[in-house]
Amino acid sequence: MKIVLMGPPGAGKGTQAKSISLRYSIPHISTGDIFRKNISNNTELGLKAKSFIENGDLVPDEITIALLLDRLNQEDCLDGFLLDGFPRSIGQAEALDKYLLERKQHLDAVLLITVPSEFIIDRMTGRRSCISCGASYHIRYNPPFTSGKCDICGCDIIQRKDDTEEVLRERLEVYQSQTRPLIDYYKSMGILKEVDGTQSINAVFENMTRILGSAYNK
Ligand code: ADP
Ligand code: ADP
Ligand code: ZN
Repeated sequence: MKIVLMGPPGAGKGTQAKSISLRYSIPHISTGDIFRKNISNNTELGLKAKSFIENGDLVPDEITIALLLDRLNQEDCLDGFLLDGFPRSIGQAEALDKYLLERKQHLDAVLLITVPSEFIIDRMTGRRSCISCGASYHIRYNPPFTSGKCDICGCDIIQRKDDTEEVLRERLEVYQSQTRPLIDYYKSMGILKEVDGTQSINAVFENMTRILGSAYNK
């Protein structure tokens, strides 16, 4: 199963991705998590990406596409994958299509999580993230069992540097101008499925599994 998760910052992509990846035994590929790992390990890629991420801008396509295709070439992606936060531009979507076409493969579904903007600031400023596995928590809506520690791996959870109101405003603008056009792109391919992201975390997940069940069995 090959799935793309789309939605504005704070829609719940990362939260749902962890559960979908477990349910369907497919790797969860988050370009944001890969960038952050590289930044904390001071790699060359991390150095290149850092300023874009801190300002809330997209890391240039050239860098991001190379990184993603390299990840898709790894063996665990042979039977499927779940992309969280990629593609974020038409250029990235075209590069992904080209890669799949060359392998006679295709995406099974693009799940778009919709949330009105008034939800987003509250979700993002209350978000806390695991420094190791990237799992998302929320101080009110999804707190960890043990305060400050990740339920999955036990590592520290922190507030991301780009989860401030100021950077968030830029990220939302970037979403509108560069990522939103992908909605029509995937609609015209007939694979876009919308999910109401204002429901509870569990309800959103149930909704997604229902959609994926029918997309995959058709
Ligand atoms: P994204 O990856 O799309 O930016 P996250 O999955 O990190 O979003 O979720 C953003 C914040 O909102 C996190 O703090 C998360 O715990 C919280 N959240 C996610 N889904 C829901 C939901 N359905 N209801 C309430 N809060 C949610
Ligand atoms: P969110 O949880 O808000 O969806 P991510 O963790 O997916 O955020 O991404 C964090 C930052 O990493 C983005 O604001 C952007 O700077 C960079 N980034 C992640 N994925 C991409 C991508 N596909 N193209 C360009 N930049 C990206
Ligand atoms: Zn963790």
